[in-house]
Amino acid sequence: MSQDLYGILGVGKDASASEIKSAYRKIARKYHPDVNKEAGSEAKFKDIQKAYSVLSDPQRKQRYDQFGVADDSAAGSGGSGFGGFEGFSSNFGGNFEDIFDTFFGGSSRSQSSRSSSGEDLRFDLKITLEEAATGVEKDIEFYHLENDSGSAKKCSECNGLGQVKVVQRTMLGSFQQISTCPTCKGRGVIGQKKVKKKLSITIPAGIESGNQLRIAGEGNAGPIGGSAGDLYVFITVSEHDYFQRDGSDIYITLELPFTQLILGCSIDIPVLNGNATLKVPSGTQTDTRFRIKSKGLPRVQGFGKGDMYVKVIALFPKHLSSKEKQLVEQFQELRNDSVSTRNIEDCIVKR
Ligand SMILES: [Zn+2]
Repeated sequence: MSQDLYGILGVGKDASASEIKSAYRKIARKYHPDVNKEAGSEAKFKDIQKAYSVLSDPQRKQRYDQFGVADDSAAGSGGSGFGGFEGFSSNFGGNFEDIFDTFFGGSSRSQSSRSSSGEDLRFDLKITLEEAATGVEKDIEFYHLENDSGSAKKCSECNGLGQVKVVQRTMLGSFQQISTCPTCKGRGVIGQKKVKKKLSITIPAGIESGNQLRIAGEGNAGPIGGSAGDLYVFITVSEHDYFQRDGSDIYITLELPFTQLILGCSIDIPVLNGNATLKVPSGTQTDTRFRIKSKGLPRVQGFGKGDMYVKVIALFPKHLSSKEKQLVEQFQELRNDSVSTRNIEDCIVKR
């Protein structure tokens, strides 16, 4: 098949995973056979599900983006590991997912839900820019499911599949839907308990927002005989009051009195976790950018540190005392800067 899967969901090719997901939810609701009785809506609904099953799976999406053809053979392969946010929830069961699965026949999660290991979990952690610069040790607390010793067993209602078939009768006839098993909440196992867990994790220097740390085996316990899922710690680095970050480089902007730029100066400025001296040479123009080598963040891949860039902006006084005004007028006279004595051609910035 060579359909325009993005077009079916009504999103652009550069749509993010969450944009794809929300577009899918919106359009799937509109065309769901229980809701939309127009001719052709069921076929459309199937196309929508197919498009989403490809675009929500990072590997299949990549193949589709590269070759323009959706790889149907990969359907249901599931277990492609971590990608996007499917199957993740910061609490147990992911209530919204469950409601969604019930309504839409498990389309959002059915492909990867039942593998032989427990669910992966997500933990969101915010750190400061200073902590990202040096690396930091953090204690985290979260809940995961552990098997009750001896009593964890396969769910008999769904036979460990985590899903049950439900027949829904509507005016158009009967539809078979697959929903999350109400007894085991989709886990295929009963006899597991929520346990609070404390861990100390080491966050490496140079980490960026969106980076994840995988902690193997700290997700939910697996079904009988299966391994536990993993815990993914999603890092967010807080915005700093005055430092801006771009990769391993740091940017800061200073406003300095124009006299300091004209005459030059030496000033102490903050850098990440310390101070440095910036020498502003005389005759510095406004908007000039200085580079202070190796005062950025450590490069995660590769060696050394990024740089710090300092932009200086000239501050002009808005009000002058009569003495100041006199001096500036004298200065203007000395330099022959008055408008009437300058050629306007000299003032125009040429490209
Ligand atoms: Zn069950």
